[in-house]
Amino acid sequence: MITVSSLLDAHWYARYKKISKLNIRSSIYDVTDRCNLRCKGCFFFSSGEHEVAREETDINKWHRFIEKEMGRGVNLAILIGGEPTLCMDRIEAFYKRLPTFCATNGLIKIDRERFPDLMVGISLWGNAEDETTLRGKDTFKISSANYEGDPHTYYLYTITPKQLGKTEKIIRNIKNIGVKVHMQLLSNDEGVDGFSWQPEELIDIRAEMDDMLDKYPETVVSCKYYHEIITTGKMLGRPFGWMECPSVTQPIDKREPRPRRLTNFIRWASDLQTMHRCCTSETRDCSTCKDGAAHMSWVMVNKRDHIKTSKDLQNWIEVYEMFAKLYQFIPW
Ligand code: SF4
Ligand code: SF4
Repeated sequence: MITVSSLLDAHWYARYKKISKLNIRSSIYDVTDRCNLRCKGCFFFSSGEHEVAREETDINKWHRFIEKEMGRGVNLAILIGGEPTLCMDRIEAFYKRLPTFCATNGLIKIDRERFPDLMVGISLWGNAEDETTLRGKDTFKISSANYEGDPHTYYLYTITPKQLGKTEKIIRNIKNIGVKVHMQLLSNDEGVDGFSWQPEELIDIRAEMDDMLDKYPETVVSCKYYHEIITTGKMLGRPFGWMECPSVTQPIDKREPRPRRLTNFIRWASDLQTMHRCCTSETRDCSTCKDGAAHMSWVMVNKRDHIKTSKDLQNWIEVYEMFAKLYQFIPW
């Protein structure tokens, strides 16, 4: 019988043991329906998720809600929006109780005296020109000044087809301000001309992502198996999509047959009552979905299928480690 220990040498087995203890149970929270930007292709606004619920403004209700979430076994709160930093008291309500990650556009600086080790993920959509086209301003100029040298911050670099051949300059800029970077691909939910991926571009960007990891291993938090999965949309020969997605809100998940999925995962709207379909756009066609976290989680929940060869299992370990680093369960 093939077992984990039969596939791994001592080095890999020690790495496996470290992550196998973690038992991460995440859920996602829309902290607010407002944002200080309106990016073209923002999944939140383009799918109308900001309109399905009115945000709860009573901070005591947030406190009570979070206690209930902990009772459900959640041990990682992923805060998104809208722009969470518009509501620091709500971030604090999570942060005081739970390992917390805050996605932000980086325009507002988090006070490190109040949130010393809050993990911050800053969205970045390309160089100054693309950022201005898609987001209306060069956010890096502001976010890099706010977060330079911050050990609990990384850039979540959403690569667009326009970035082919240009990623190195961006990675270098991030390296130069002393923070990390994680890469994912744009899904182009609003069909902006020239920003949808063509098959040959996906082949090229995979090679470029691999190259960035080889050249900047201290800055880039990633692994080649993740690049393969996200650019091909395939894992062990299976295509990603609705029937495979692990990041669907559990109470409304009626799929049959039931795929392997995140335990007890819910994406909550900011009224603290409404549930969104999944970790990203309510209206996205799943066959076009490039969501990085959903693809990572897809690998993570399918451990058993990776207990086949040493390489498959090592790939699985690397993706799990990457996720655990991005949410501060293990050091960088
Ligand atoms: S900063 Fe984020 S939440 Fe705000 S519009 Fe852009 S993508 Fe959407
Ligand atoms: S849009 Fe993406 S994350 Fe959402 S259900 Fe579809 S595949 Fe999953």
